[in-house]
Amino acid sequence: MFEVMFFSKDATLCRPHLYRQELCRKTNCAVEYFRRIIDYLDSATDTLDICMYFLTCSSLVKAITKAHKRGVVVRIVLDESMAQHDRSQVMWFYKEGIKPKYKQLDVLMHHKFVIIDNNILITGSTNWTMAAFFGNFENLMVTNESRLVKPFINEFENIWTMLSAMETDSEKYALT
Ligand SMILES: [Zn+2]
Repeated sequence: MFEVMFFSKDATLCRPHLYRQELCRKTNCAVEYFRRIIDYLDSATDTLDICMYFLTCSSLVKAITKAHKRGVVVRIVLDESMAQHDRSQVMWFYKEGIKPKYKQLDVLMHHKFVIIDNNILITGSTNWTMAAFFGNFENLMVTNESRLVKPFINEFENIWTMLSAMETDSEKYALT
């Protein structure tokens, strides 16, 4: 399975029919793409690993917390700036018992990828914000080709392990 989505400035024209059932004749309908991403999140049964520079889109946050509620193990890595810019969505995660990891690093956590059930990879230029989906020129690729998915699984584990170690270090400092 391999799917590519392109978003363009035309996506702003689709935004009004986001919450309406309406036939859209656009070949690159941003609403259709957006719904497909939610469907992918809704399909998660085991794990959801998310590494995202900015994640403020409430529909996607909702789909993620819904997955958590049905027993999916959700791990989220965000850039620290996200926590400062939009506390509201981060608070949602905390409220639902999901603790995103973000750490002040000297560099940006600029990734935008999600792995579903260690099987499906969604990656591309798109931050998970409404502005990105409905206003920018962006691309997303969805695939379950293991030679593409596997390196992302490994990279996520590396990042997660690194941030976990940093947390343990800072806890050690706090104790001394
Ligand atoms: Zn449309």
